[in-house]
Amino acid sequence: MARVLVVEDNPESLDLMVYLLKAFGHVALSARDGLEGIEAARLEHPDLILCDIQLPGADGVEVCHQLKKDPALRGIPLVATTSYAMVGDREKLLGEGFNGYMSKPITPQTFIDQMAPYLPTDKDKPLIDEIKFRKSKTKVA
Ligand code: MN
Repeated sequence: MARVLVVEDNPESLDLMVYLLKAFGHVALSARDGLEGIEAARLEHPDLILCDIQLPGADGVEVCHQLKKDPALRGIPLVATTSYAMVGDREKLLGEGFNGYMSKPITPQTFIDQMAPYLPTDKDKPLIDEIKFRKSKTKVA
C-alpha cells in the first residue's frame, strides 16, 4: 500500500483517480489547488504525488519548484498529470523537475499500471506484483 497525494482541480478527474487508488488498496490524499497541494505534501509526506499542471493558487510547475527546493520533500516522486493538448510539453515538464508524466484523461484500465513505476521501489516492489495479481482477479466497476 502506498500513500498517494493527488493534486487536481477537476472534480471528475480527482474523483476517478481517488477511486482507482482506493480500489487498488492505496491511501489516497487529495488537494484541489496548488497551495493546498504543497501544504498537504509537507503535512503528509506521501509516497508519491500526482500533480495537475493547470491549477488555481499555484500551478503545477510552481508546486514542482516549491517541492523540489525543499530538502524534506524533493525525494518524493512527483508525476505531472496533463491533458493530451500538452503532450508536447513532456520534456519541458521533466526539465522543470518532475520525475514523470502521465497524460489525461485518465484511463481506468491503465492508470494503476502507469503509476506503478513511480512508486518508491524498495518497500513497494512486492506491492506492485500484488496489485497486478489483484487486478487480474478483480473487476473494477
Ligand atoms: Mn486543472
